[in-house]
Amino acid sequence: MVTAFPAPIDFEADGKQLGHIAIPHSRHDSAWGSILIPILCVKHGTGPTILLTGGNHGDEYEGPVALMKLARSLEPGAIMGRVIVVPALNLPAVLANRRTSPIDDGNLNRLFPGDPRGTPTQRIAHYVQTELLPRADVVVDLHSGGSSLDFVPAVVMHALPDADMHARTLAALQAFGAPIGLVLEELDAQGMMDSAAEDMGKLFLSTELGGGATLTPERVAIAERGVANLLAHFGLIAWPLDQPPRPTRVMSVPDTHWYVLSRADGVFEPLVDLGAAVTAGQAVGQVHDPTDPLGQPVIHHAERSGTVVAKRAMARCALGDSLFVLAEDYRSSRESPAGAS
Ligand code: ZN
Repeated sequence: MVTAFPAPIDFEADGKQLGHIAIPHSRHDSAWGSILIPILCVKHGTGPTILLTGGNHGDEYEGPVALMKLARSLEPGAIMGRVIVVPALNLPAVLANRRTSPIDDGNLNRLFPGDPRGTPTQRIAHYVQTELLPRADVVVDLHSGGSSLDFVPAVVMHALPDADMHARTLAALQAFGAPIGLVLEELDAQGMMDSAAEDMGKLFLSTELGGGATLTPERVAIAERGVANLLAHFGLIAWPLDQPPRPTRVMSVPDTHWYVLSRADGVFEPLVDLGAAVTAGQAVGQVHDPTDPLGQPVIHHAERSGTVVAKRAMARCALGDSLFVLAEDYRSSRESPAGAS
């Protein structure tokens, strides 16, 4: 018997299957070739379907590593339901250590719902939109800060208009067990996998698990434990041994005033670090011009009092780069944030 390759996935079959999402990509050195993105489906018994994705942005490795380790260990007999895992969703970007695809410069998380006749990255989005999202009850897309940002490891949800879905998503966010849970009002939701899943009525979580295009033992552990906690929270597995989940500080980034954007090109010197509590008006960073050693650096101040949840990972910065993201403790009543004007 000849084994089919790339292996097709039968999402309805019980058992553990490894297959490929085949994206046609005919090019100079591979006429009629395809990009083969590994996909795992583990199904047993009756239960919900959870879709777990990493590598939506290629330079964010906490999710891919945690999901590859899960893929190796997950056995059908241990679950009730279906787990679909794609550790490296934008595989060309993951292999190139780039946020966007080296083939078409596509930012996968801005191209939903995709296009079946479009560029390779548009086709990946279309496959997720039409084949994966409709099958899922819960969607978890694991991100981190990538090359340019570094986050306090966080699990992320959007403020949702439906109160019941908001409460269920908030409960899942707390079950993940990351140090911080962020409730975001998305500034630019157009084309995101988040919006595509939410528009289909799926429970959706994202993460920002670290960054700097590198890994630490602690951050990988948070990713692994968080995914296991979610499988348990939704009844697919028994609770891991270290339960209950560690407490999560739920915070929000109310609006653009909580971002500190660079006002100069140069070398970014942070004056505070991740996790610091800062007050409105405090100097948090300065940008030096290497061509003007006697000139004064451009000092950047926090507009709001809050906690530093993200910091630019690269010293080199340009006008408009995010230097810091601040957050405040989340209040579900959605009153106006303290100090806002
Ligand atoms: Zn990302």
